Amino acid sequence: MADLANKYAQNVGGKFYVDDQCIDCDLCRETAPSNFKRDDDGGHSFVYKQPESPEEETLCKEAMEGCPVEAIGNDGE
Ligand code: SF4
Repeated sequence: MADLANKYAQNVGGKFYVDDQCIDCDLCRETAPSNFKRDDDGGHSFVYKQPESPEEETLCKEAMEGCPVEAIGNDGE
């Protein structure tokens, strides 16, 4: 389970975030490209935009459920 205390600083404010367990597998960026991006320097994903439609919300949840290391949380601030 993702830990809010370990979320990357690049995440925009809001409920979805990526924490430091991310292994840079690309799944969330493929699943929800409108919301997840890669930090090329750090080699991990982060949330650059919170979902703004039901469709984006669904894709973000799908990404969260699909993340192999459970690095995505939806209880962020
Ligand atoms: S799906 Fe999980 S491990 Fe893969 S890039 Fe996204 S946050 Fe990182």
